[in-house]
Amino acid sequence: MKEMYAQLGISSEVYDFGHKIEESLKERFEKFDKTAEYNQMKVLLAMQKNKVSAECFGSSSGYGYDDIGRETLEKVYADTFHTEACLVRPQITCGTHALAIALFGNLRPGDELLAPAGKPYDTLEEVIGIRPSKGSLAEYGVTYRQVELLEDGTFDYDSICKAINEKTRLVEIQRSKGYQTRPSFSVKQIGELIAFVKSIKPDVICMVDNCYGEFVDTIEPSDVGADMIVGSLIKNPGGGLAPIGGYIAGTKECVENASYRMTCPGLGSEVGATLGVNRSFFQGFFLAPIVTKGALKGAVFAANIYEKLGFSVIPDSTEERQDIIQAVSLGTPEGLIAFCKGIQAAAPVDSYVDPEPWDMPGYDSQVIMAAGAFVQGSSIELSADGPMKPPYAVYFQGGLTWEHAKLGVLMSLQKLVDKKLVTL
Ligand SMILES: *Cc1c(COP(=O)(O)O)cnc(C)c1O
Repeated sequence: MKEMYAQLGISSEVYDFGHKIEESLKERFEKFDKTAEYNQMKVLLAMQKNKVSAECFGSSSGYGYDDIGRETLEKVYADTFHTEACLVRPQITCGTHALAIALFGNLRPGDELLAPAGKPYDTLEEVIGIRPSKGSLAEYGVTYRQVELLEDGTFDYDSICKAINEKTRLVEIQRSKGYQTRPSFSVKQIGELIAFVKSIKPDVICMVDNCYGEFVDTIEPSDVGADMIVGSLIKNPGGGLAPIGGYIAGTKECVENASYRMTCPGLGSEVGATLGVNRSFFQGFFLAPIVTKGALKGAVFAANIYEKLGFSVIPDSTEERQDIIQAVSLGTPEGLIAFCKGIQAAAPVDSYVDPEPWDMPGYDSQVIMAAGAFVQGSSIELSADGPMKPPYAVYFQGGLTWEHAKLGVLMSLQKLVDKKLVTL
């Protein structure tokens, strides 16, 4: 084994260091295996119940009327997430687009959107109009209110209660921390927040940004009262096979409203050719619990390695996981660059290129990104990125297999060792 790793560029001392850490994680990993097993059964049950057949893998073109694969897949998603309905479409271009469709479809002029648990994901700022933008919800007369979390990262129930008013129509809760430093919320916590909101105003729509959270737990936010959960197919539920897409699962009414925004009023979910992607959507969803498990193991492995070496890691080495993202504060620009070079060098695609920091539009500092993916921008595949500013934190996620995620983490460490930025 060591010889194989040596051929890939991993030294004996890095291998041994990683091996010791891996040995100490057996119990943790067993828990991930159990969650994945449960979720695998959940997906299989939904596939069997809905009689998935070879016919479902056919392709439609043009309007895409009566696409049996598309209709069956949407039932499989709905049954897996225990919702009345679901949209799963290649016409949904990314996670942000899915969230925007869900918001625009369910809000009307004069309504208010409330974020009760702090700022939503960066790209939603322009959708909502927090940063002025053409075509934002703000331009359509939808107002926005935000309640910050308390110092300790918990919900500020008093302020949430005061923020809910006669205009409040929809509440948006983001499960994963994204690029913030707050902890990610557990499904249970989200359920408590939804129950609180509904106790004050029962008809308010509770929507959860579920990106990076699918299959991390045995329950999803839709099991604890969310009216809509929304995510991207180039993250967890696509299982690495979906080449594009997003989903919106929820009540019949919410999903129908979203469908009129996804296509147009009157047509809704009846149109939308699948152009040959159905099989990858089914097969990716089938694999998703196992792929998510691999990514979780990689994240925990990284947390344990880098914490042991004295770096600050979020979540820490022993914390329960709510998503597949791992942050490591490397402390120096050289450390951040070396880490990303390691992730790139471990990739199945583009392993021979060197990532460099660049001036990415919309960021106030340079950003470095590492990804060698089969699907462009896919972050269920092993990837890492970080802004070139203190504390030089890298956000690391994905890995279609645990074995690849492990190589990525070991390679990042190798690069740091080679640069003499750490000693083992
Ligand atoms: C990735 C992500 C999004 C946006 O998805 P894109 O596909 O990048 O548009 C939204 N919210 C969260 C929490 C995410 O992680």
